[in-house]
Amino acid sequence: MEEIPESHPRYESLLTRHRIEDGVERGITSPQGLIAQGRGEAFDYLLGEETIPSADEAARAAAAQLLLADHPVVSVNGNVAALVPGEVVELADATGADIEVNLFNRTEERMEAIADHLREHGAEDVKGLTADARIPGLDHERAKVDADGIYDADVVVVPLEDGDRAEALAAMGKTEVVIDLNPMSRSAQAAAVPIVDNIIRAVPNMTAHARELADASREELEAIVKEFDPDAARAAAERAVREGELA
Ligand code: ATP
Repeated sequence: MEEIPESHPRYESLLTRHRIEDGVERGITSPQGLIAQGRGEAFDYLLGEETIPSADEAARAAAAQLLLADHPVVSVNGNVAALVPGEVVELADATGADIEVNLFNRTEERMEAIADHLREHGAEDVKGLTADARIPGLDHERAKVDADGIYDADVVVVPLEDGDRAEALAAMGKTEVVIDLNPMSRSAQAAAVPIVDNIIRAVPNMTAHARELADASREELEAIVKEFDPDAARAAAERAVREGELA
């Protein structure tokens, strides 16, 4: 990781690849995670590898949603753990959210490896290992969640999620914040707050907004949420992907 000079034009992208590769080697990320990363990278390239204004607005609305929530939870999978472990812990701290490990290809070993990795990055309580509740409408393994975690949450951050689970969580009535570089993915479509941005930029940006809004009143936070238009954000991102000029 240290070998890539920061001046390299593809620094961020190469750093991201290294983190994912490292995640696979440590048993945190599944091999399918490499494919998800490749898909994401293609969209990021088309977006100009930057946080577009609509994604920044979405990150601010997401921060407001998390600060308003009774029980916010950040869901972490193998790619998220490999890419932004410390940043997720900071976001949880800034918003009072729980962290829950939730995997598409769930194995106990990978659950433990991710929980340990998050603890090494400062997480105190990592949920997801109890798995004493189920998301309705999904097959057994993918439905597993903690009763006092995602099952109970009113606002859930689901980064890099597959469409089925994002739709099932939305059907449970949860307010979903989705981080996904593909504005046309089913996850982004299911979201109340779609953040079309690379997770390595989006999570620190949400934390910065949460810190800036820490003293805002409920009315101010509610106004930010109300003003945010998810359809407009998705449309702006799709336009940027289709029409943007490559750097
Ligand atoms: P859907 O079922 O919603 O169509 P999918 O089957 O494409 O989703 P996956 O292949 O699991 O889902 O990919 C996960 C999603 O995560 C993809 O849409 C991809 O663009 C996105 N993604 C991958 N890496 C990142 C990243 N670093 N930051 C943000 N999004 C990412």
